[in-house]
Amino acid sequence: MTEWRWRAACREIGFDMFFPDESDIVGAEAAKQVCSGCRVRRQCLDWALATGEKHGVWGGKTAHERGNYQRALRRAANKEPVELTEKRCRLCAELRPIKEFGRNNENSDGYNSACKPCLSHVAQMRRQAKKAAAL
Ligand code: SF4
Ligand SMILES: [Zn+2]
Repeated sequence: MTEWRWRAACREIGFDMFFPDESDIVGAEAAKQVCSGCRVRRQCLDWALATGEKHGVWGGKTAHERGNYQRALRRAANKEPVELTEKRCRLCAELRPIKEFGRNNENSDGYNSACKPCLSHVAQMRRQAKKAAAL
């Protein structure tokens, strides 16, 4: 038996009340009431979701509610990442359109941390410094 089940509030009550008929709304509510005070509610719900339990009240949710909950979780997980339209340059500290940043796959957002004008300015400074050193 999974460890959390020893601490289940429904253990002493008996499992029957957690399997009301599908049309028995009052019965389902009574079971959910017990779940609401249960210390292992989270583990219980996770277990029912993981095993695809089709019957009964688990973790305070009926089978129908678990289905809705799981669909909502899936929707949230599949949500497209918000497309980046602008970002702040690390050098000039200005908020600039994303097209003013070169691509850089080493950064998590896929762009350089400094804008193109700043980077070309830095490159120019480097060239001048090199020239001065060579004189
Ligand atoms: S959440 Fe409800 S069904 Fe799950 S263990 Fe607790 S009382 Fe039992
Ligand atoms: Zn910049």
